This record gives sequence, C-alpha cells and structure tokens, in this order.
Amino acid sequence: MTNTVGILGFQGCIEPHQRMLSAIGAESCLVKSPEDLSRISRLIIPGGESTTMLRFIKRYEMLEPLRRFARTSPVWGICAGAILSAREVHNPEQDSLGIMDIAAHRNFYGSQLDSFTTQLTINGLTQPMESQFIRAPLLSPLAATAGRPEPTVESSLPGQPVFISQGNLWASSFHVELGSSSALHERFLAL
Ligand code: GLN
Repeated sequence: MTNTVGILGFQGCIEPHQRMLSAIGAESCLVKSPEDLSRISRLIIPGGESTTMLRFIKRYEMLEPLRRFARTSPVWGICAGAILSAREVHNPEQDSLGIMDIAAHRNFYGSQLDSFTTQLTINGLTQPMESQFIRAPLLSPLAATAGRPEPTVESSLPGQPVFISQGNLWASSFHVELGSSSALHERFLAL
C-alpha cells in the first residue's frame, strides 16, 4: 500500500506543499488523472482558483473518481480546495465535489489586497499556527448527510469557523504551506 501524498496538480499553490512534505520526509506526487489516484494514500486539494480547477476536474473526468477516493481516504481541501469539497457553494453558486457537509461562501474575506496572516489555535496542535487568508471563503458546517459523521469545527476566528473536519476529510479556509510550520501537514499524514 502506497504512502504517497497526492496534490491535485492542475493549478494553484502546489509547490509549497511539495517542499513542506519533502521537508518532513513524505513522498508526494501530482494528481492529474483518475489513474493517479491509485498511486496515493491521501490527497491535498490546494488553494488557487476553484473555478479553474473545477474545469480541469470535469475535463479529465475526475468528479466521480475524486468522490469515490474521498469515501475512504484522507482529503484536505485548502481554500479553493475547501470550496471544491463543499456540498454548497455560494457567491456565486458553483458545482463541487460535495464530499463534505459544509457550505462555502466564496471571497468572504475580500480581495487579494485584503489578504492577511494570523496565528490560529487549532484543535490537536500545541502551538498556534501561522495561517494565511487569501481571497478565502467563509466555511460553515451543515447537518451531516446520512451515513457521514457530523462536521467538527477545529478552529475559528471570532464567530467564523475556519477549519472543519468530517471524518477523514478536512477543509481549511486558510493556507499554512506558506508559513514555516509543518505541524498541520504532519497531523494530516497521521489521519
Ligand atoms: N477565491 C478563490 C476561489 O474562489 C480561492 C482563493 C484561494 O484558494 N486562496 O476559488
């Protein structure tokens, strides 16, 4: 059984994940086709532009293979990746994988110029985590679809969930791969 971490490789913030994973001794590879999913044990859907990634996912017929993969394997959607994982996407509405029972309101935290970095307290981590919000969505938990566990908020800004888990699936509205701590990547490897 492979232990390689896949990174959806069509577009977006890919290279910082490769660097961070290699720094902690984890193998990674880019995922661009349904066949690539058979070579990995877990998947990061990186930040970037969800509309563009969705176009590639559809063109390479990956909607169903990704949904199937997420039923049993860990998937971490970051920012645009969280939008793609969400069951409901607003502002504007957009298709998605719908693998997590969350709603994503796109660009809630403003434009590129409103980007900010903050230190977040995250369940299970002893140190606050440097976190970047870049045209980030607002994430909200929804009632679980039958057969799935309830979504759990793992970190919040005042009144706003920013990191939600649901079983083997994670969605964070922020990036951590641009900072110096690999603590969240290490936790993802342990899922
Ligand atoms: N605003 C982007 C989108 O809607 C996400 C931005 C990001 O991933 N940093 O897809």
